[in-house]
Amino acid sequence: MKCAAVILAGGTGRRMGNKIPKQYIDLNGKPVLYYSLKTFSDAEFIDEIVVVADAEHTDRVQNDIVDLYGFHKISAVVAGGRERYHSVAKGLETLSLDTDYVFIHDGARPFATAYTLERCLHYAKKYRAAVAGVKAKDTIKISDDDSMVQSTPDRGHVWMVQTPQTFEFMLIRDAYRRLLDDEDRLKTAGISVTDDTMVAKMYADVDARLVESTYDNIKITTPEDMELAKIICLNREQETT
Ligand code: C5P
Repeated sequence: MKCAAVILAGGTGRRMGNKIPKQYIDLNGKPVLYYSLKTFSDAEFIDEIVVVADAEHTDRVQNDIVDLYGFHKISAVVAGGRERYHSVAKGLETLSLDTDYVFIHDGARPFATAYTLERCLHYAKKYRAAVAGVKAKDTIKISDDDSMVQSTPDRGHVWMVQTPQTFEFMLIRDAYRRLLDDEDRLKTAGISVTDDTMVAKMYADVDARLVESTYDNIKITTPEDMELAKIICLNREQETT
């Protein structure tokens, strides 16, 4: 069985207000992207990793991260696309055809644990698609366009999904091909594709299994997230020493 990972670092990170995208910012001595690459490289069931970077930074990722830290499972650093889903599709098309399962992971999420990866793979084998997430701690409201409350879903069934999202490889690769063919219709209908399980459902009719992950598997989006990330990083270092 062959397992691979697509690590996404193709965003420009406008919400950070920084010149360099968030995945390359220094986090306690190493770039943000280093941490997820390390977790996936260290997982013994991962055979191949493709990193999707923005076109301006592919050389930098190759030289300053992949080569510098000796991440030998990384077979390619490729340029991403305009939207996240373009970058995912590019990564999937770059992987070896004999891949059985693939993890799709945001490079801006440095703290996914090895255990979360293992559990996602376990459930992907069982259900064909699995996604890491945590149950909402706050009550969630659905609003209308004028911010008026429309409904209150049962909190026991509300999850905030994260990455990794793990799939049978051919299933998700073909689903992404169909998505790209259908892009114009989605735009006209105002449907935005925000995660990979959505693509599996829309184009392969497969429901994903939610996998309880950790609340500190945050995605670095704004400068406040970076402050929190520094603390999580220090805690993790202390746990392992
Ligand atoms: O922008 P957002 O926070 O949703 O990005 C999630 C992940 O997807 C980040 O790791 C980002 O680098 C990646 N991304 C990408 N290509 C894009 C947009 C985002 O690889 N065009």
